[in-house]
Amino acid sequence: MRKRPRLVEGHEATMPIDKLKAPAKLHFRVIPVTRARQNCSLAWCGDTGRAVVIDPGGDIERMLLAIREEGVQVERLLITHGHPDHAGAAFDLADLLQIPIEGPHWDDMPLLARLGEVGELYGFEDCLPFRPDRWLQHGDAIAVGRQTLNVLHCPGHTPGHLAYVSQDARLAFVGDILFHGAVGATKTPQDHLQLLYSIREKLFPLGDDIVFVPGHEALSTFGEERVSNPVVSDRAAQKYHHLFAVHHSLLR
Ligand SMILES: [Zn+2]
Ligand SMILES: [Zn+2]
Repeated sequence: MRKRPRLVEGHEATMPIDKLKAPAKLHFRVIPVTRARQNCSLAWCGDTGRAVVIDPGGDIERMLLAIREEGVQVERLLITHGHPDHAGAAFDLADLLQIPIEGPHWDDMPLLARLGEVGELYGFEDCLPFRPDRWLQHGDAIAVGRQTLNVLHCPGHTPGHLAYVSQDARLAFVGDILFHGAVGATKTPQDHLQLLYSIREKLFPLGDDIVFVPGHEALSTFGEERVSNPVVSDRAAQKYHHLFAVHHSLLR
């Protein structure tokens, strides 16, 4: 029998992470947006009310309503990667709130440039291409009031995909890198290997207790995925781990 994830549906619910045991006061709320029900997240510092919106893919009214209801001050938009369901409304929301867009990594530049046409192709309305005010890199740190989100470059699903991690709150926003019971889609075997490397060698070492918000569907923990995920569990990884050594020059 499959074990249930430690956390179930975080959708539309405010989840004070400090109640889960970590002392840090980073709060978040997941707002499903677009027809892909993408997990846009509003995250804020409990001390100061300063906030970020991660992956404003669409449905601006829903995002604005959540911001209003929580009474927080959004200071910047953060983007995990350049797909329309994650980045489609970034330009409009940034313009409306007069705040900067930060991320993804420069390697997703071609995706952002084609956001309008790709959005149209897949039925996401009103996606506007943009150039972020700041491209982010592995090792960058983003202040959210008194809290910090660390930036990890995790290519595979897209070349410039980023994850945002709060070490103190034991919380990660991972976009389409990893899901509960699945991993992000890739176009080539090499991209797939890159993705497995990102998950196994960059995300999982952060700790089993880290709760992650995936780009779609239910929340989970890295520990849960190391046990039960059919693609990246410790058991599954026995089959491909040696490839990381063989292809080391391709992986980053
Ligand atoms: Zn994606
Ligand atoms: Zn997605």
